[in-house]
Amino acid sequence: VIEKGVPTSSAVTTCAYCGVGCSFKAEMQGEEVVRMVPYKDGKANRGHSCVKGRFAIGYANHEDRILNPMIRDHYSQPWREVSWDEAIGFAAGKIKDIQAKYGRGAVGGISSSRCTNEEVYLVQKMVRAGFGNNNIDTCARVCHSPTGYGLKTTFGTSAGTQDFDSVEKTDVILLIGANPTDGHPVFASRMKKRLREGAKLIVIDPRRIDLVRTAHVKADVHLPLKPGTNVAMLTAIAHVIVTEGLMNEAFIQERCDWDEFQDWAAFVAQDERSPEAMEAVTGVDPDLVRRAARLYAKGGNSAIYYGLGVTEHSQGSTSVIAIANLAMATGNIGREGVGVNPLRGQNNVQGSCDMGSFPHELPGYRHVSEEGVRSIYEKLWGVEIDKEPGLRIPNMFDAAVEGTFKGLYCQGEDILQSDPDTKHVSAGLEALELLIVHDLFLNETANYANVFLPGSTFLEKNGTFTNAERRINRVRRVMTPKNGYEDWEVTQMLARAIGMDMNYSHPSEIMAEIADTTPSFANVTYELLDEKGSVQWPCNDAHPEGSPVMHVDGFMRGKGKFVVTEYVATDERTGPRFPLLLTTGRILSQYNVGAQTRRTQNTVWHAEDVLEIHPHDAEDRGIRDKDWVKLSSRSGETSLRAKITDRVAPGVVYTTFHHPVTQANVITTDFSDWATNCPEYKVTAVQVAPSNGP
Ligand code: SF4
Repeated sequence: VIEKGVPTSSAVTTCAYCGVGCSFKAEMQGEEVVRMVPYKDGKANRGHSCVKGRFAIGYANHEDRILNPMIRDHYSQPWREVSWDEAIGFAAGKIKDIQAKYGRGAVGGISSSRCTNEEVYLVQKMVRAGFGNNNIDTCARVCHSPTGYGLKTTFGTSAGTQDFDSVEKTDVILLIGANPTDGHPVFASRMKKRLREGAKLIVIDPRRIDLVRTAHVKADVHLPLKPGTNVAMLTAIAHVIVTEGLMNEAFIQERCDWDEFQDWAAFVAQDERSPEAMEAVTGVDPDLVRRAARLYAKGGNSAIYYGLGVTEHSQGSTSVIAIANLAMATGNIGREGVGVNPLRGQNNVQGSCDMGSFPHELPGYRHVSEEGVRSIYEKLWGVEIDKEPGLRIPNMFDAAVEGTFKGLYCQGEDILQSDPDTKHVSAGLEALELLIVHDLFLNETANYANVFLPGSTFLEKNGTFTNAERRINRVRRVMTPKNGYEDWEVTQMLARAIGMDMNYSHPSEIMAEIADTTPSFANVTYELLDEKGSVQWPCNDAHPEGSPVMHVDGFMRGKGKFVVTEYVATDERTGPRFPLLLTTGRILSQYNVGAQTRRTQNTVWHAEDVLEIHPHDAEDRGIRDKDWVKLSSRSGETSLRAKITDRVAPGVVYTTFHHPVTQANVITTDFSDWATNCPEYKVTAVQVAPSNGP
């Protein structure tokens, strides 16, 4: 039971789960958090929350938490509890040995979108300045890296264009590859409110998600496309807009590169890109596509919201670009009620990308090859920064298997469970000489670690998270870290032990350094955040109060850039052995691989992952509701229970990935986005057969 007693104190902080970034008042009795109350002045949530945030204190106090550092010479040996000094000294000694033996590029780090901006900034700083390479990557690699690529290419910066309030001015919501009811529940409520007021809704999703039809909301158009065909669908919509003259030419002429627009328009106008021609690819009735295109282009203020159903494909970056093309072609960008809005899965996906956690970018999305940018940090940190991008996460595993990458510091990320092609990941982890896991629990990745550094929860640290609308929210320490240190302090200890001068005494000092070196954060201070509650970047002299809407007078890159987006079918194909397509998603009460939510009261609502299968496909295989089934692909197999439903179309099956026993990533392929290596989690050819259980 969570609610008990009268609180003795309280502090306002930010939920550490999804990218909505709800504010909560943590109510305390002494050193114990007894209740999380949705904060009515929270600008992202306005007093609302979902069951994940309400019960998050469960995992903070869970008995599974590891509170003392542990080391072992090899992962096959038992752990040995040691002091912080010994653990840090052991890890630092191994880093130095590896670099002396194999070169400075043989080590790297992975930061997490669950961590604060300040923590992520320090990890990339330690890697770049302490390890002396750019082998830093983030778990955003496996979710929204295509958003980074696509929006930077077209608009000039990698961020959602609107604030959440903007939805109140929207006339048409185009929702593609996202299921806000489960993934972003508090924002979904605001969407539903707007829909009840009369806004129109277009849903592009292989599955009949909740918003397609609920008691109070019904989509005007649902385009149930075949998994993996987003680019074909978006191109078909563009074809209708261009050939029927539904563009906003005045906007395009004023705000975008006209020559690039003409190339794009000529490309999409070709007959083979019409909804009729694309039906063979998408499987969707062309009349519905035409209706959707007309509604989006001429329905008033139209806003696009999207999620991982767009990005986690071999053409993830192409899809993001195709979305941006639609917004520019119709002039739906740069004012309230419109825009392109990635719904971020984790609490700090936006922030961790902002903080320079990609191997090719310094903070503020500036490429490491830019000498003028490198020199800012070189002067400040007193080191030379490598001008070559470092290894991405999948390349780290490749290099580990090849024997050229030997040491990894992994903060707040269970890569073994969350990354694709589990066999390859485990082979990479096995080959390392040093794996430092810095986390709350002994996760699956820690099975291969030889250093475990206990992490602190969001209730035990100060810092900031940046939500899906670029809103920088304060995270406030309400209890003493049970493990002894906040995570930024642990990174600082490790950096010092390898000989790097870091001397911060509070995360506000880290934010001051971020503001000094990152133009879009120039005016951000903890004082300003305390005064305003939160601010949205860019926050600088040009936008002293922050920026709810971006690209108002011009795109960040100057002229908006149209890019031709050719549909290329994924290499993952169905066939006689694997005739069905598996796609994946989330359920409201659980969060990602469940490391946190499975240690809270949320398990009451969701005890296991199930496989949704259409009645026809179930009948063909002799499968009844709740039967155990074997789900197999070219990569591997797992067992779970069947749920027979027409939410999925014939030929498509669907599951969630919250429970480690399901091991959905044993099934997924190693195909990935051409531009960013974001894994193609959303399309796997599978077979389903009755089984006797795991
Ligand atoms: Fe809000 Fe997301 Fe946390 Fe739910 S999980 S309380 S919607 S931030």
